[in-house]
Amino acid sequence: MARRCIVCNVLITEGRLKILAHTRTCVEHSTTSAYAARPVHTGTSADDAMQDIAIIKDPKAAAEFDRLRDLKL
Ligand SMILES: [Zn+2]
Repeated sequence: MARRCIVCNVLITEGRLKILAHTRTCVEHSTTSAYAARPVHTGTSADDAMQDIAIIKDPKAAAEFDRLRDLKL
């Protein structure tokens, strides 16, 4: 069933409605953004090494994470 964005009145795509059945906005007017994922490695030796994935919602925080990762330490 076709539905229009409550902000701009454009038809919401069929694919978006299939995934987000209750959405009321088009992609452009969605208030959410994609999450970023970054690998995190901790520990100082093979005995205490751990790997995890950080899920980051704020794009600025993801950019800062990348900046810090790329520093030559
Ligand atoms: Zn819209």
